[in-house]
Amino acid sequence: MSFVLHVDGERWRAGHDHFVAEHPGVVPVVKGNGYGFGRDLLCAEAARLGVPMVAVGAYAEAATALATFGGDGLVMEPYRAAVHADLPDLANRQVVHTVTTESDLESLRSVAGEARVVVEGLTSMNRYGTPVADVAALAGVADALGVTLHLPLGTGHVEEISRFIAAVPGVQTWFVSHVTAAELATLAARFPEHEFRPRIGTDLWYADKGSYEVRAHVLDVRPVSKGARVGYRQRAVGPGHLVVVSGGTSHGVAMESPSPAATARSRAIAVTEGILEAAHRVRSPFTVSGLMPRFAEPPHMQCSLLVLPTGVVPPRIGDEVTVRMRLTTTTPDAVIVS
Ligand SMILES: *Cc1c(COP(=O)(O)O)cnc(C)c1O
Repeated sequence: MSFVLHVDGERWRAGHDHFVAEHPGVVPVVKGNGYGFGRDLLCAEAARLGVPMVAVGAYAEAATALATFGGDGLVMEPYRAAVHADLPDLANRQVVHTVTTESDLESLRSVAGEARVVVEGLTSMNRYGTPVADVAALAGVADALGVTLHLPLGTGHVEEISRFIAAVPGVQTWFVSHVTAAELATLAARFPEHEFRPRIGTDLWYADKGSYEVRAHVLDVRPVSKGARVGYRQRAVGPGHLVVVSGGTSHGVAMESPSPAATARSRAIAVTEGILEAAHRVRSPFTVSGLMPRFAEPPHMQCSLLVLPTGVVPPRIGDEVTVRMRLTTTTPDAVIVS
């Protein structure tokens, strides 16, 4: 185990407690790689938080999640007769299905007569959903628990949600995504009779970014003289030290700038890194001896070759180094909660 997500459990959980207190009605999202923590850990944490419902991304995730969680599980992928009609647990009473058409609803109810559903509205996201003009009719036929809306990142959500609510007067419960606490407060004030259930993953699970970190082990260290050839591609490196660390493509380590390019400056850096990448000298996400050294070549499956410049004191074999990665695409060897 040498590429490990370390979690300070007490601090991590305190972050969630604080977040949930500020977001009443939150439906924690547990999907994909479990935001790096793993879906089982997040389901156990959702149970500890005492929320009545989690949202999973797909039917494939529902059974294990609900066994751990115990409450309701909203499946966010839409039920499609053509795709899902043969699944074994459609009638699981914990599951809440998402439907967008009447024919899918009929198919679902023919295999699971009591199936509970929400209707998804087609928002400006333009992913999947029922057009706004048809939501009320489908929600009525389905006796839906509520309507769900998935909105793009950014703002302007309140007006779009308000248009849906005006078009669907009979529905009280609205599941919404990517809506800020301020927008939720505006909605609650504008529609005091309605209940808003924000579906949140990122901001909840990463509420306290200082409460976890990925650490990798140094597996080897070797001085290299100028022009020394290393790796699959036999590229020339040095002078300095070659440092081999655990963590490779199977863990999600990639040759990319470690954080999203949000500012003009970071975009400019990304362009520069792109040029460096062409020369196979992109900065790695590992912090070694106080700096983020460059990759000697693209990461291997389970380890990476880094180059420390001359003059930098190298680490020792067995040392731990921190790794700055987007956890939604990280697959650690282990998650250790202490
Ligand atoms: C992933 C997802 C969310 C949660 O998104 P975060 O940005 O992680 O909070 C909410 N709703 C839907 C439909 C999603 O697919």
